[in-house]
Amino acid sequence: MERNARKTGFFNAELETMSQEKREERLTRKLQEIVAYAYEHSLTFQKKMRHAGCVPEDIQTLDDLEKLPLTRREDIIEAQRETPPFGGFEGVPRTQMRRIYVSPGPVYEPGPWEYDDIQWAQALFAAGFRAGDTVQNTFNYHMWPFAFILDDSLKMIGCSVIPAGPGNSLIQLTIMQKLQATGIVGTPSFLMTLAQRAESQGIDPQKDLSLQAGFVSAEMLPESLRKMLESKLGIPIHQAYGTVTTGCLAYECPLRGGMHLCEDVIVEIVDPDTGKKMSPGSTGEIVATNFNKAYPMIRFATGDLSYLTNTTCECGRTSPKIGKILGRTDQVTKVKGTFIHPWQTDEIISRFPEVDKYQVVITRAGFVDQMTFKIELRDESVNQDILRAKLERAIKETLNVKGQVEFVVRGAIFDRHKKIDDQREWDG
Ligand SMILES: [Zn+2]
Repeated sequence: MERNARKTGFFNAELETMSQEKREERLTRKLQEIVAYAYEHSLTFQKKMRHAGCVPEDIQTLDDLEKLPLTRREDIIEAQRETPPFGGFEGVPRTQMRRIYVSPGPVYEPGPWEYDDIQWAQALFAAGFRAGDTVQNTFNYHMWPFAFILDDSLKMIGCSVIPAGPGNSLIQLTIMQKLQATGIVGTPSFLMTLAQRAESQGIDPQKDLSLQAGFVSAEMLPESLRKMLESKLGIPIHQAYGTVTTGCLAYECPLRGGMHLCEDVIVEIVDPDTGKKMSPGSTGEIVATNFNKAYPMIRFATGDLSYLTNTTCECGRTSPKIGKILGRTDQVTKVKGTFIHPWQTDEIISRFPEVDKYQVVITRAGFVDQMTFKIELRDESVNQDILRAKLERAIKETLNVKGQVEFVVRGAIFDRHKKIDDQREWDG
């Protein structure tokens, strides 16, 4: 197949190109259905709703989601400890569970008898996978759901699958050559292992292999790593974001520049403390609601941070996009109502080669947050006033919050320091 033909088309054109208004109508209808279903069939969800003082009729619109509490992975682990094995989250009897997966935790997750969620299939199609492809699936088929779910999703597109699992890179390369695999899916790190192994064996992926499309997930994909993989393997590498509990939430189209939200799932970006929606462009926690009756997840809080973008995409898909994953909520600090994340402070400091080490200290003066960047210089003879002014301007511009710069003597910041040291104390 022509490389360019892999960049066009849709897995489900009707859904992927519908107006945002229609999409919201459809999601609202599906939300009402799943809330009613889960209330009746999932004991824990019913308990949660009662605790929040809600009945299914209270959830009429997408905005009504805010009335419902967030569910975190820790809540599932705790509920499963109290009510084994599924913690009352399951929505079907055991006889209707096709597979029961075991994820780290351990968390026991029932899968439906017929897997028909299209989210991962959308992502794989957008990554260039097409009917007739032979795809080597290097995700782990042992206990975890992800490899099976991708396997089922590749079937929806019409691909043959080699259930390779991870490891055995040399054997994997032989299989890939013999079976003329045209697609590969795996973690970015394992694809890199394969690419390096090929190099050391004198295999030139562009001549000796038949690969056309690559798909990665489950790990961060820095652009530098993507470039390296693409040049070594000679194929475009696309990524998608999701969790085992909720399925795929967002995926890259051929034009990239963020990830389109999948159909058949509701994604919110919320303030992790209050569960309230953030405005587009503001960073918050990714929260997802799926429509999986076997294991309904309503407002599952992923712990990952991102933001919604407002741009339209020329690929033709009309769903909104989220930006890249910016980190985890447990590393984030809120200063004057704005989230500050270590990646942002790193980014500021990286622009100043004069800085050797830094630490951000958050304190309170009266009722006002104070943010101080403690900085050790490489060379203390630089003009500190000019440098301070430049740093303070960069802090304000990047973080939208004012911060002071304090130069400290070398050694004042311990080696194993926290990047952001929150020293605020709160009563009760
Ligand atoms: Zn697009």
